[in-house]
Amino acid sequence: MDKGLLLVLSGPSGTGKGTVCEKLCRQHLNLCSSISVTSRSPRQGEKDGVHYYFLPEAQFKKLIEEDSLLEWARVYGNYYGTPLRQVEEKRSQGLDVILEIDTQGAKQIREHMKEAILIFLLPPSLEELWNRIKGRGTEEPEVMKERFSAAYGELKEIWYYDYVVFNNNVDDAVEKIRAIISAEKCRVERNKELLESYPRKGGKLDLSLD
Ligand code: 5GP
Repeated sequence: MDKGLLLVLSGPSGTGKGTVCEKLCRQHLNLCSSISVTSRSPRQGEKDGVHYYFLPEAQFKKLIEEDSLLEWARVYGNYYGTPLRQVEEKRSQGLDVILEIDTQGAKQIREHMKEAILIFLLPPSLEELWNRIKGRGTEEPEVMKERFSAAYGELKEIWYYDYVVFNNNVDDAVEKIRAIISAEKCRVERNKELLESYPRKGGKLDLSLD
């Protein structure tokens, strides 16, 4: 069985990564998202094991020491990381896995896993981003400002990525990512095994004309 793809989705806070990811996984049955571990406290409505695995900082640091994380980063004062085993198990079952992570984590993935497909999601404009952060209403004003100004820093990292998708509309963004997945699956490099056996497919070639 072919190993599933590893996709990374990043973008400034408020871009709509969560919504796009959720819709994508619902529509694309072979795709699942990875559940990250974090030292941040749950927000209202967030469930342990669904949105994140919430861990105390000391336990998170233990995971780093044990090399149990595929990547990890400190974002806005909290630790976030991707559990290595969870991702590898799913990929070896042939499932495509999408990680919704920040640019520091994406950089680590780029360095260690050349096959990963890095996608950057952007809002139509920075003005729209500010409106979305404000409209979410889940953070304090200072936090909202911090997240907005971080967007500038994150934008500089876009050159590490393979694709940029503008999220003007969730359905369009989802469709574009589905198209990226389809195109990636057609890469010659990813079809090597099949191509090697292709000349023998269907038994012996019979080129007779009668
Ligand atoms: P939030 O606290 O809003 O859920 O997430 C804050 C930031 O952390 C977002 O940019 C999100 O993509 C990023 N993040 C979430 N999980 C991970 C992870 O496992 N690794 C890294 N590097 N970043 C993550």
